[in-house]
Order: sequence, then C-alpha cells, then structure tokens
Amino acid sequence: MSAATPLSLPAAIELVAVSKRFAEGPAAVDNIHLRIPGASYCCLLGPSGCGKSTTLRMIAGHETVTSGDILLDNRNITDLPAAARGTAMMFQSFALFPHLSALDNVAFSLRMKGIDKAQRQDRAQQLLERVAMGALANRKPAELSGGQQQRVALARALITEPRVLLLDEPLSALDPFLRIQMRSELRRWQKELGLTFIHVTHSQEEAMALADMMVVMNQGRIEQVGTPHQIYNYPKSEFTARFMGGHNVIETPSGRVGVRNDHMQIQAATESSDASAPNSLRAVVSDVEYQGTYVLLGLRRPARATVTDGDADWSVMLPEATFLARPFHVGESVQLSWAAGQAHPLSSDTAMT
Ligand code: ADP
Ligand code: MG
Repeated sequence: MSAATPLSLPAAIELVAVSKRFAEGPAAVDNIHLRIPGASYCCLLGPSGCGKSTTLRMIAGHETVTSGDILLDNRNITDLPAAARGTAMMFQSFALFPHLSALDNVAFSLRMKGIDKAQRQDRAQQLLERVAMGALANRKPAELSGGQQQRVALARALITEPRVLLLDEPLSALDPFLRIQMRSELRRWQKELGLTFIHVTHSQEEAMALADMMVVMNQGRIEQVGTPHQIYNYPKSEFTARFMGGHNVIETPSGRVGVRNDHMQIQAATESSDASAPNSLRAVVSDVEYQGTYVLLGLRRPARATVTDGDADWSVMLPEATFLARPFHVGESVQLSWAAGQAHPLSSDTAMT
C-alpha cells in the first residue's frame, strides 16, 4: 500500500431530523439537520453538555436515536450495528492496551473478528507504516512518545477501513504543547488519507485550526454551520459571538450587533467627545492584559466601573505597537467606536442571558 492509495472511499454523512431524549431532562439532541460532505474535516463545537458526544455516538451506532435518520452516502444506517456502518471511533491515545505492542494494539479488532494471526499482523504492519510507525511496531505504548501513541491510536481506528472517522475530544488529555502538535498531525492525516473526519471539541481555537466545516451547537441544537472564517467573522447569534470569543456584543438603537474586538477603535474620552455619537460608546478600562503581539483591554460600562470582580462588558484587542504608542490604564475613561460595516446583527438568545 503506497501513501497515495486511499484506504477506502470517503463518505458523506447526513443527519435528518435527529433527536435524542434520555429518560429525564430536555432533549440532549433536538431535531438536528446536518450534511457533512465526504472527505471534509468537520468539527462539532460547543460548551459541555450541548449534545456533541451524543450526536457523535449516534453516528457511530453506540447510541440509539429517539427519532430521525442517519445516512452514509444516502444509505440509511440508523439501525445498523456499529461495526456494519463504515464508521470508526478514534479513542484517546491513553486507551491503548498497555501490555500489547503497537502492532497487537492495531491488530486487536481483527483478532476479535477471528482473522488469522499472519493476516492481521500483516495488515496492522501496513497501517503502522502508513502513519510512519512501521519501525516501532514492537514497542509497547509506554515506550512511545505521546505523538507516537496518537498515531498508533489512529492506525488502530483505521484497520476496519472506515469511511468516516469519529473523534471525541481526542486531544483534551494532552498537555498544551503536544495538543497543538497533534492537532496539526490530525489535520495532515485527514488530508492525506482523504477520509471524512468528524471531531468533537469544546475548544473554539481547536475547531478553527482543524475544520473545513464547523458546527456550533447549543443545548442540543445547531446554532450555526460554516467555515471557521464565516463563523468567526459573521456569527449569527449572540450565543455564537460570545462562545467564539473575540467579539463584543453591543446594544444599538437598531438591535444587538457583534463587532470583533480587533475591529474596535479606542481613544481617551474628553469633555468634548460626544457620548451619543453613532457607532460609539463610553467605557472605563477595567483590565490590561499583555499577550505578546497584542494587548487585550477589558472595558466596563461607566456605571460598573468600580465593580471589583466579575467580567468586563467589552474588550478591545490592540496591536502591541499601537498600545505602546498610547498606553491605556485601568480606570481611564475611554470612547470606543467602530465602522458601521464592521457591525453584524445578532439574533438574540435567551440561553446566554
Ligand atoms: P457534550 O458532549 O456536548 O458535553 P453530551 O452529548 O455528552 O454533551 O450530553 C448532552 C446531554 O445529554 C447532557 O445534558 C448530558 O447530561 C445528557 N446525557 C448524555 N448521556 C446521557 C445518558 N447516558 N443518560 C442520561 N443523560 C445523558
Ligand atoms: Mg462530550
């Protein structure tokens, strides 16, 4: 098998009116419609408890649906057992069997299927070579680096020749440095293998780094679907704007708008500056955080200026040089403004208020 040979053909996944209700509480997944194109890297993103894992587990066949249909390339797989769907789950690297070699870890599911030893070891070796781990096939997980373990976990998931690979927070147990390294590996493997990846994460940064297609979820529903660029630049709802971060939600006479915090201007408020000028507001600096390339200013409504705890109402991200040319200080009264074209209307969201 050469690196150019596809393992299997990528498949599109479609969810049609899919819901999941557990015994008590509101629906964990509430009437979701979603089409994920084949060979794409899709990230399901949202806060803890919003239904990401339940959605993924229903696609995998590890959880039944309460209603709705799941299609893989137009074939209805809703009632198929997990092993017959053409999907596979990649578990976190620490789920490798510690007493088995990399090779035996990868071959494990073939052993369960009763495939003979020579054949399954052959196949496992091919897959380890595919993920550049061929030379380390006889090492146990403890003798491998975190990154190497991750690749064994990937090979182990690929041995069933899935058309869709499902990953539930695969990087969350890693330290921050390895997490960033591993996420670029995952992205590279997805492109190289040409498979459809569906990756669950609660990290907007991780989703933006990885996804061709991002699905923002909130309370069992889909808030917004789009490319990272579309979602970051044009969040449709207050929930998405706040969850993605880097945005200000501002009340204007025509409703709520979102403005990126690096698209805001800030200047000292003077007695002559007009507090009621359009596309502007008065604020007090409540926090100055140096971030290297940028300086992040936290800002409060003047009425909340003296509150000593709690979040800022808004933020402004200034390039370091801009800040150094005119530093702002905690307690300083300022005027914030933005170009009309930088403000995007937001649908209001009761869940976040
Ligand atoms: P996420 O992965 O986004 O953090 P989940 O899909 O795990 O969220 O959970 C969504 C909701 O469904 C949560 O309220 C959770 O408590 C509930 N839930 C998940 N699994 C079960 C279960 N097996 N039994 C009952 N409730 C569950
Ligand atoms: Mg989860």
